[in-house]
Amino acid sequence: MSAPFLDHIRTTLDGIEADGLMKRERQITSPQGGRVQVDGRRVINLCANNYLGLADHPALIDAATKAMSDHGFGMASVRFICGTHDLHRALEARLAEFLGTDDSILFAACFDANGALFEPLLGPEDAVISDALNHASIIDGIRLSKARRFRYANSDMADLEAQLRAAREGGARHIMIATDGVFSMDGYLARLPEIRALADRYEALLMVDDCHATGFMGPKGAGTPAHFGVRADILTGTLGKALGGALGGYVAGPQPVVDLLRQRGRPYLFSNALPPAIVAAGLAALDIVEGADDLRARLFEHADYWRAGLERAGFELLPGEHPIIPVMLHDAHKAQAMAARLFEQGVYVSGFFFPVVPKGQARIRTQMNAALSREDLDEALAAFAQAGRDTGVLT
Ligand SMILES: *Cc1c(COP(=O)(O)O)cnc(C)c1O
Repeated sequence: MSAPFLDHIRTTLDGIEADGLMKRERQITSPQGGRVQVDGRRVINLCANNYLGLADHPALIDAATKAMSDHGFGMASVRFICGTHDLHRALEARLAEFLGTDDSILFAACFDANGALFEPLLGPEDAVISDALNHASIIDGIRLSKARRFRYANSDMADLEAQLRAAREGGARHIMIATDGVFSMDGYLARLPEIRALADRYEALLMVDDCHATGFMGPKGAGTPAHFGVRADILTGTLGKALGGALGGYVAGPQPVVDLLRQRGRPYLFSNALPPAIVAAGLAALDIVEGADDLRARLFEHADYWRAGLERAGFELLPGEHPIIPVMLHDAHKAQAMAARLFEQGVYVSGFFFPVVPKGQARIRTQMNAALSREDLDEALAAFAQAGRDTGVLT
């Protein structure tokens, strides 16, 4: 490979390093869980999306193992050629039932679901209006469509209305509002009742990506729309967070929407079918989730306890009710120092800083999950207080 090209790449890497923005991956050597093995030590894990603690659940592992022996390992095909198992259709029907939609369609990941969604449904005559803090996959999916693009400041309803008006005055045929159900950096919920009301007033569709909510927010864990008692027209979500934490995404919605995505969604047509083990474990996850009021109660008790403990210790938090609880440090170096000091004390967290969050808003994003115990939380609170003093965050 040409030396100038590799020099150019190395210069970019050096820049990332010099800015203090290099991300390094720790290697876990145990299953994902409330505690994980890293560098030979068991550490309390406060940064997984394993909200219900299902990532190492025996029922999911059994279902996956059984599916591998009954259905084999891989499909070696996209769905429409010879890659559709009975299991795929069972999970699609089950997800639709769980979410209260006509049908659903599986993708390799929610990143692909969002990548597939917009281009077949919206043309140049249409408009899509997107929250400024939406997930990267929504932004990329919208870029792939020919619809006119509008953006509103995060959860700013006056701005959303201004964009809706602009889209209508611009003669848009169909308008789709796209939002995360929960904004993952802050743990803030989208203001769905107000968004729905505006969507209805301007005859727009509402698309909600509910990755950080499905399985635990709202009655039976049906997500943010269920939490607010609001209807979303189209939902996207993941099997990679609360629903087992492995892999896989979906779009759920009206039958014609799902049918068209099966015909035209490019990440569906040109990418391999999900393996049977993943699909069977997804079905097992839904069996658990539908009856998991105890796990949900535990998750939100943990969130209340953790939030109150951090506040008592003197940390600055963002307000909220979601199990994402960001500890605001404002400075990237402080966030990294805190995370390093916490790891020394047996608590695994990750610092978030620019470009993942705006400059001056560096933080440690902590996340609660049902696999943690009260003892884990007490130990982690003591470690936070100590690390806060050691790094000068707490005085
Ligand atoms: C995690 C996440 C995704 C990506 O999901 P994958 O299934 O891991 O690709 C998409 N959207 C949001 C809002 C997410 O939080």
